[in-house]
Amino acid sequence: MTKNVIAYLKESAKKYPDKIALIDENRKITFNELDCEARKVARAIVNSCGDIKNQPIAVYMEKSVDCIVAFLGVVYSGNFYSPLDLKMPSVRIERIMNVLQPAAVIYKDKKPEVCGLTGSLISMPKALAAEFADDNVTNYQRVLDSDPVYVLFTSGSTGQPKGVVISHRGVIDYTEWLYDKFHFDENVIFGNQAPFYFDNSILDIYSTLKNGAAMHIIPERLFLFPRRLLEYMNENSINTLFWVPSALIGVANSGALKEVRLENIKKILFCGEVMPCKQLNIWRKEYPDVLYANLYGPTEITDVCTCYVIDREFSDEEALPIGTACENTEVLILNENDKAVGKDEIGELCVRGSCLSMGYYGDCEKTRQVFVQNPLNHKYHELIYRTGDLVKYNEYGEIVYICRKDYQIKHQGYRIELGEIETVCSAMDGVERVCAVYDDVNKKIVLFCSLTGTGQGTAEKEIYRWLKQRLPSYMLPAAIYVKEQLPINANGKIDRVELKKIYI
Ligand code: AMP
Repeated sequence: MTKNVIAYLKESAKKYPDKIALIDENRKITFNELDCEARKVARAIVNSCGDIKNQPIAVYMEKSVDCIVAFLGVVYSGNFYSPLDLKMPSVRIERIMNVLQPAAVIYKDKKPEVCGLTGSLISMPKALAAEFADDNVTNYQRVLDSDPVYVLFTSGSTGQPKGVVISHRGVIDYTEWLYDKFHFDENVIFGNQAPFYFDNSILDIYSTLKNGAAMHIIPERLFLFPRRLLEYMNENSINTLFWVPSALIGVANSGALKEVRLENIKKILFCGEVMPCKQLNIWRKEYPDVLYANLYGPTEITDVCTCYVIDREFSDEEALPIGTACENTEVLILNENDKAVGKDEIGELCVRGSCLSMGYYGDCEKTRQVFVQNPLNHKYHELIYRTGDLVKYNEYGEIVYICRKDYQIKHQGYRIELGEIETVCSAMDGVERVCAVYDDVNKKIVLFCSLTGTGQGTAEKEIYRWLKQRLPSYMLPAAIYVKEQLPINANGKIDRVELKKIYI
């Protein structure tokens, strides 16, 4: 039984020692080199921190191959890692460090400048300069599969980032399911988009390690130049993508798919936010034979808990289902009375299974609010995670995402899902991104959107007319603002909080 993610690395290093595993702009690394370098990092951790186990170690460096070497070094040393983004404002880094209290911080070029940092500072170049990779770093063997492997920090509504703790078992369960579902093998070449502090990256990293695949870390700036991005994918024979929908939407809207033909693409998976059918259809028209899958899940359940492999046609206006639960995972849809929903009833998506996080690091209170006893089980202790996402079943028995629980509003006595207004608006020609928010004080629905290149000049009046033709009058926004760009948060999603702050 695989009980520690290091087993994936060791297996691939044995089977494919000289095969390239990871590639960034500056270097490539084989599986054997990856294993050796990770052990050097582990040795540096043991030398500097002593014989510690199950302690947090922060990795503070630019997204690169070295980051993954550091992550695996941490796991080899019997501890768990937490990636920190160099671009994060120092105030946020400080808040995270205060919660995490890492036993060490691994850095490369820039030392973290944080008040009150108590752990050791480990220089990555110095760790790698060691002459030999130590075969005796066996600390990872003492770790159980229920022990943590990483902590990812997500934004918290109160401004204090929440550290989601994930176990080896969660990652292994997920990676094995991906293998069964998508038949990943050593010929897969991932084009990684997700930042390493975002849970989508878990698929790329651990499926590469398990299957002896390869992973290209696509330079972030290329996402601003879709044509060049597609050329890069061809130059590097990338055949598999797991991107946040925003990235796929950007490419679809740019028209680049008509200019550059992707020569190797086989699978396009996405997760993290709603994928509008309009842009999905642009991809499908160009690449009808590619496998497309809509994956869904929050960080708290190890990235993904439901999946829908697209197997039929969808009109531009339709909502794409998020599918059904992954293997060894159960999804409960609970209504306001904590009972399983009936036909056509909307409820909150709740999850049980090995994928569940161990809660928020250092925050039992917040953990207790969302990791709760399964209300359908009164006989023994069993936790579920309440996602706060509202969903329902469609006529095929697939789950359809409606919106966040917190975006459901009551307006003029009517119950309204803001996501519905967004879906209708985003199907309009010329509209790129859409975000509907509710002005609680003035009791107004406000709609923000940006336009595609061909949509430039579309007036608010035209958008209003489009909506009026498709929505009941009580759902029409009181104000529509066309903006050049909508603010995007660190994970590449539209930043609703920021929009409200700026304009309302
Ligand atoms: P994160 O923890 O950053 O992965 O965000 C998780 C949240 O993103 C979920 O609770 C959903 O609200 C949203 N989300 C993730 N995947 C999807 C999807 N396929 N469709 C719609 N919303 C999604």
